Amino acid sequence: MADSPELRKRLKNRGYGRADVDDRRAAVEEFSGARLEHVAAYSFDPEGASRNVENMIGATQIPLGFAGPVRIRGDHAEGDFIIPLATTEGALLASISRGMSVITEAGGAHTKIYMDTMTRAPVFRVDGIDHATEVMAWISENADTLGEAVSKTTSHGRLLDIEPYPNGRNLYLRFVFDTGDAMGMNMATIATEAACGIIEERTGAKLVSVSGNMCTDKKPAAINILKGRGKTVLAEARIPASVVEGRLHTTTAAVVETNYRKNLMGSAMAVSLGSNAHAANMVAALFLATGQDPAQVIGGSMTLTSCEDVDGDLYICVRMPNVEVGTVGGGTRLPCQSEALSVLGCLGTGKARKFAEIVAATVLAGELSTLGAQSAGHLGKAHEALGR
Ligand code: NAP
Repeated sequence: MADSPELRKRLKNRGYGRADVDDRRAAVEEFSGARLEHVAAYSFDPEGASRNVENMIGATQIPLGFAGPVRIRGDHAEGDFIIPLATTEGALLASISRGMSVITEAGGAHTKIYMDTMTRAPVFRVDGIDHATEVMAWISENADTLGEAVSKTTSHGRLLDIEPYPNGRNLYLRFVFDTGDAMGMNMATIATEAACGIIEERTGAKLVSVSGNMCTDKKPAAINILKGRGKTVLAEARIPASVVEGRLHTTTAAVVETNYRKNLMGSAMAVSLGSNAHAANMVAALFLATGQDPAQVIGGSMTLTSCEDVDGDLYICVRMPNVEVGTVGGGTRLPCQSEALSVLGCLGTGKARKFAEIVAATVLAGELSTLGAQSAGHLGKAHEALGR
């Protein structure tokens, strides 16, 4: 294994021309002894990825398939959709497709968005409770000044609220933004920093970190379930008893019981922050395909799935408190990811809410299919046939 100052220099080269990327990859091959033939085979201009990755050496490829079509009757997504999904898990797309076909036969998934905000929560050091109270009073009296500071950093973002959480010599301020069609974490962070500068200057509170972990980004947290982060989306469907029996080879009662004992009681036993079968599976595959931030799959994992027997039919609903997505910015501007968003008619301005409803309908389909398979005792067999 070679190592030298020259090799280290080539590894550190920060250019984004194809020659820079090739040279850096060759240096990695030399350093590690690995051959990167497939990593080298990518079609897009590396310059376009300069805001998405440092030290680029190529691209990784994840198999991309589709599930659907699925019928969605939402406020923003309306019609039949084919869903691009990137995964290495065999049987996943077959299962989601089955759920989508059942939902479509039953009339479609009804979707709705209840909240749509992005948050950033800096932590300040204060002198104690009295100082925290003074800082909070100053913030509430000067909301306009802080809103103006935010508006100088972004033309699409808007400061909606600042929620204070004092604790001893700590003051957490949860900034709540409307971020338009962007997922908004960069936007919210830059805007929050601008407001924090003024708060420090005018109140004597000392900013310790622009993220004090009450945001809460990329970590499971009850505050996100209760208050929402990103989009809070619900998707529901009513599946006639005959369709449950004919297509899922089970009964409404069996699915309701599986959901109760597994998703609700089992998750309570485990003190899980999500009560679902595998919502993160659908969220991860859709996020990877469409250039969302993969670490925010954690938000999708906090989905609550409910099932009820309604006059013999199966009513199923997913409540997703944290669908943190965008249709502009971040990874959405990469070519493969833009193409996948285009398949959904969700690329660019005015599409983020439509996309969030599609995420929820996809999760609903995956939950339905897996609950059906588990209540019919088919899950292991499907994975054996398709995933091994
Ligand atoms: P971004 O790529 O930084 O910014 C998107 C920008 O697009 C906005 O700032 C906005 O400009 C512009 N824009 C154009 N049309 C828009 C529209 N219709 N709606 C909203 N904005 C529009 O993306 P981001 O969503 O703010 O952040 C996503 C990225 O943040 C991801 O790459 C993610 O991995 C990363 N991330 C960052 C942090 C962090 O702490 N910084 C944390 C987690 C993830 P204007 O603001 O000028 O209006």
